[in-house]
Amino acid sequence: MTTTLPAATGFLAAASQDTEIALRPTFAAQGSRTVVRENRGRQHLHIVLLHGAAPDGSLARRGDTAVLLAGELYNQADLHSLLPDGFGASGDADLVLALLDSYGVHAFRLLNGRFAVFAVAGNRALLATDHAGTVPLYVTARPGQVTAATEAKSLAGTSGTGGLAGTRPMYALPGVCQLKAGVVLEIDIVGGMTDVHHTWKPPLGRRILPEADATDLVRDALRRGVRARTGTDTPLVVISGGIDSSSIAALAVEAADGRTIDTLAMGTERHNEFPEAGLVANHLSTRHREIVVSTADLLARLPHTVWAAETTNVDIVEYLLPLTVLYLRADETSRRILTGYGADIPLGGMHREGRLHALETAVSHDMATFDGLNEMTPVLSAVGGHWSTHPFWDREVLDALTSLEAGLKHRHGRDKWVLRTAMADFLPHPTVIRPKLGVHEGSGTTAAFSALLVDAGVPASHLRHAKHLVLQTLFRRVVANGEHPDAVDLADVVDKVAGRQSQSVS
Ligand code: ATP
Ligand code: MG
Repeated sequence: MTTTLPAATGFLAAASQDTEIALRPTFAAQGSRTVVRENRGRQHLHIVLLHGAAPDGSLARRGDTAVLLAGELYNQADLHSLLPDGFGASGDADLVLALLDSYGVHAFRLLNGRFAVFAVAGNRALLATDHAGTVPLYVTARPGQVTAATEAKSLAGTSGTGGLAGTRPMYALPGVCQLKAGVVLEIDIVGGMTDVHHTWKPPLGRRILPEADATDLVRDALRRGVRARTGTDTPLVVISGGIDSSSIAALAVEAADGRTIDTLAMGTERHNEFPEAGLVANHLSTRHREIVVSTADLLARLPHTVWAAETTNVDIVEYLLPLTVLYLRADETSRRILTGYGADIPLGGMHREGRLHALETAVSHDMATFDGLNEMTPVLSAVGGHWSTHPFWDREVLDALTSLEAGLKHRHGRDKWVLRTAMADFLPHPTVIRPKLGVHEGSGTTAAFSALLVDAGVPASHLRHAKHLVLQTLFRRVVANGEHPDAVDLADVVDKVAGRQSQSVS
């Protein structure tokens, strides 16, 4: 059963033949730290665990094998069924260790979860991401030492040869690589040789189903995805009143079995979706709160968003900025937070497209290019001390949604038809038919970021490039150089970029 936070939410870990490994743990994620130093076989391990409560269950060892897991698994019952009867309830890392015994590296093909794993078995290091890489994992390796972390900033300055198979290089961090989604990277610690195993790929084929079968498939998968993430907790669902988050809230109410769940909506003084979110909260009888943030306060968190998400992608940062602010203001105590994030990627909701070939082109493109954007990173909520999880990117939900033929995604004149129809009995009719409004639009984030640059003198034609330059500057400072985001003068960064832009125009 899930509890408030997973046993570990992040880590920095090294396996080396050298007993004097120097690590510099730097995390945007809040949490207690536990340091473990021990020998496994001929390897010396140095681990810094980041956790909310007790970290038991995040580290399992036997003989010359150790498994470290940040995050959580959602199909524990299925996984337990693969093990001998005597295998009692234990942490997710124990489960992975036991599965490694039977299945070797293929154990990772069995997991449905939100995790990053660092394991050592004899002279091999095994690094693994979940199917969608929702917990980013970074690595540096050189013969004799492998170092991995759930935040790239912790690896700044560690030396690595770079160019590892199954990874991509990181901007402004030489030698640091990010593991791809759905990958196990096997590294020979002594010699440095690598082997890559792919554990998941987005489905490319499409299923043709009768309407009722398709809606049942989606509802059942989503119901399981929400239930696995809700556990015994009273969850908090961040809602906009859009169909995606409203569906999650409705299923969380069902999973909570009579307990009242919390919902939270955020808006700025210029834009909000409070009436739409309020309608859903009322309908579901949740304990609902609204948070109003000034546009200035919203923009002031740009450095924090880059610090947490470790990306320079303009679209992604504009989606994540309002959520960063929301998470920072959510609650004093650590919460398990469910979101409706990510439904539009397999359903093509962002594209507002009715032509089936164009909708399928958009879905196929988005599913082929999500990797490395870090939009699901748990660090975003961890800067506020929370753990976020996204049922739409549960492995079974994502498989089901992606694989439906486009005519089930757009049907009878409605986008996201299959989801809307699946949830029609759970939500008020205006919510079920409400057109999509992106979080960056509903909060006015894109408009506010644009206005910040235009007011500083950036010509409208150069806006997008200027935004990218701002994010690159922020990345270099708060990720690569380790500055705290509170120390960054955003106005100064913007002025410098604007100065360069106006020079390049004149
Ligand atoms: P739709 O895509 O139909 O608008 P949605 O609003 O639920 O549905 P997105 O707009 O894609 O989904 O937003 C992504 C997620 O971010 C939401 O599902 C929700 O969990 C969270 N979110 C978005 N806007 C807000 C908001 N104003 N307050 C709280 N959470 C929000
Ligand atoms: Mg929305």
